[in-house]
Amino acid sequence: MRHLLISDIHSNVEALDACMERAEAVGFDSVLCCGDIVGYGPDPNEAVARVRALGPRSVRGNHDRVASGQGAADDFNLPAKTAVYWTRDALSHEAAAYLRELPAGPRGLGGDAQLVHGAVTGEDDYILSAADAAESFRTTGARLTFFGHTHHACVLSSGPGGAVRLETPRGADGRWVAGLDPSVRYLINPGSVGQPRDHDARAAFAIWDTEASRIEFHRAAYAIETTQSKMRAAGLPPPLIERLRYGR
Ligand code: ZN
Repeated sequence: MRHLLISDIHSNVEALDACMERAEAVGFDSVLCCGDIVGYGPDPNEAVARVRALGPRSVRGNHDRVASGQGAADDFNLPAKTAVYWTRDALSHEAAAYLRELPAGPRGLGGDAQLVHGAVTGEDDYILSAADAAESFRTTGARLTFFGHTHHACVLSSGPGGAVRLETPRGADGRWVAGLDPSVRYLINPGSVGQPRDHDARAAFAIWDTEASRIEFHRAAYAIETTQSKMRAAGLPPPLIERLRYGR
């Protein structure tokens, strides 16, 4: 089984379309989504419609939660807050209802794998350091946890004595394969489709191949300028527009 892993699409349909074109070329059987379908970008309704049509197993992200009217954006920074309230106004009733129905993680995938948005400890928590990862490993017995929220593609593995090893995708061709050892526990971030922050502006996704026991990381170039001009027309905050070009 090949599961397509997407996360942090953030209303960027140019990026999502580029990922789907590449994902279809390499092949997949099911779709898993770590949340944040909306927020930041200019096309929330279109992003929801496209993701929904894929029939994914998904968790909600913090932007999905606030944009669909479940709580305030009190802990968001100013550009994120501006964009999430813009998104709340722009969402159709139907799209907002879809987002409201997404479960908060962790969401079990059967077997020993699960989806979360931020961390096992909470959807708003970030896994940015070895200490953050160690806390998530302590909080779960799952062997594989897929997460998003940081917008950094990576593989964190739990070693002897609670040591955590971090690996980040490498290779100029935009493709990197990580073998999964059945006796090791992992936290895996496929990277962000719509707003990468790991200094590679290309859209990110991954494929979890259960038979080959490996994760393939991919990047897909997309028309960043198209997304940026839509954001400008929508009056979204300039820092959010600029950062797409730099992937950070
Ligand atoms: Zn996000």
